[in-house]
Amino acid sequence: MKSKEYDVVIIGGGIVGLSTAMQLKEKRVPNWRIAVVEKEPELAGHQTGHNSGVIHSGIYYRPDSQKAKFCVAGLQALLTFCDENEIEYEQCGKVIVALNQEEIGRLDTLQERGVANGVRGLEMIGPERLKEIEPHAAGIQALWSPYTGIIDYRQVALAYANRFQQSGGEIFTDAPVSKITRYPDGLVVRTPGGELKTKHIINCAGLYADRVAVMMGENVDVRIIPFRGEYFTLRPESHHLVKGLIYPVPDPRFPFLGVHYTRTIHGQVEAGPNAVLALRREGYKKTDWNFAESMGTFTYPGFWKMTAKFWKIGMDEMRRSYSKRIFVRDLKKLLPEIQAEDLAPGGSGVRAQAVARSGALLDDFSILRGKEAVHVLNAPSPGATSSLAIGSHIAELAAEAFGGTP
Ligand SMILES: Cc1cc2nc3c(=O)[nH]c(=O)nc-3n(C[C@H](O)[C@H](O)[C@H](O)COP(=O)(O)OP(=O)(O)OC[C@H]3O[C@@H](n4cnc5c(N)ncnc54)[C@H](O)[C@@H]3O)c2cc1C
Repeated sequence: MKSKEYDVVIIGGGIVGLSTAMQLKEKRVPNWRIAVVEKEPELAGHQTGHNSGVIHSGIYYRPDSQKAKFCVAGLQALLTFCDENEIEYEQCGKVIVALNQEEIGRLDTLQERGVANGVRGLEMIGPERLKEIEPHAAGIQALWSPYTGIIDYRQVALAYANRFQQSGGEIFTDAPVSKITRYPDGLVVRTPGGELKTKHIINCAGLYADRVAVMMGENVDVRIIPFRGEYFTLRPESHHLVKGLIYPVPDPRFPFLGVHYTRTIHGQVEAGPNAVLALRREGYKKTDWNFAESMGTFTYPGFWKMTAKFWKIGMDEMRRSYSKRIFVRDLKKLLPEIQAEDLAPGGSGVRAQAVARSGALLDDFSILRGKEAVHVLNAPSPGATSSLAIGSHIAELAAEAFGGTP
């Protein structure tokens, strides 16, 4: 990589960084010199390439939140983008299944939220209609979301990258940013292969977004805590048990949706993901461990405050992670016919969850705007569904903050 000068360097070649890059170049500031730097040899190798592949409809999120706004807008924009760029997706629909009276109350709240957020087609259904949609699912009532879909987000991200490059943007892979230095006339982004001079930075580094912000001297009051989500894959003989997407009613105290069944766009059926603390930010295996990164977690006061609040849920998740029997027991609640033999170990993903010093898990997207940088500090699910809406928002913020034209 030769030392070149840019107006904006975007750190992170995941779906958020690439969507921002594409929209900045195509719609906001076509004349700016823009580069994306990605530390891995391939783009979209972390959260974007290790998720459930669900196009969320926007049911779960507080009506005044960015998640609600960006998910609903992002879903429409994503479908249009996929139609225009010949990316396969399927609106297979999803049921959120209540197993008892208490969950019915929470299902009502979800329906109210969904309606307030403008989610189309939501319908509260009884056991008979549920049996028509998902013949093998348990449940005394369910919320049916017919437009929820499935997709391969890696493919989407690569299409964003392609469009960005076609409009003159540059992408550097194998380029981990290790240092950012300020000079009177700008910033220098250092990678092992060389340096890039730039006026501005957009930090979309996912699991390392807090680190990159600190590299720029920002005083960020959150820390990314990595939560691994592990999946099982249903053996082909059991695929018939799941027609679309079967979800539980989520625990409102926790930001994750609970283990569910997902049909993938590639024809598999997955069960998961759980949510266990990872001892390495990109720790996809149980045995993955990094001393410095786990110390970073354990010395953060917010981690212990979070643990004090969620230790019981955390212990249950750990037990379920180490015991297939317990995982299967929980999965059976949604699909009583499922047996341990139906499930083979699947993949995993690691969520970048920002945690405040108070121990609160940041629920909403968090995008911090500075004079010379924009930092995306929290972009968890439904970040992939929302990618075009978040990217459009970041591109607008950046164009405004960085002065419109260079
Ligand atoms: C298990 C799981 C299930 C999920 N399910 C869904 C779902 O069904 N639907 C949905 O909408 N969302 C889902 N999500 C959320 C979604 O995947 C994320 O919101 C989205 O992928 C975030 O994209 P990103 O670009 O911010 O992060 P990433 O995809 O993680 O990209 C960040 C990039 O930055 C790079 N990087 C980091 N540090 C540096 C550095 N120093 N120098 C250069 N590059 C760097 C990384 O290598 C990485 O490629 C799920 C997430 C997980 C983990």
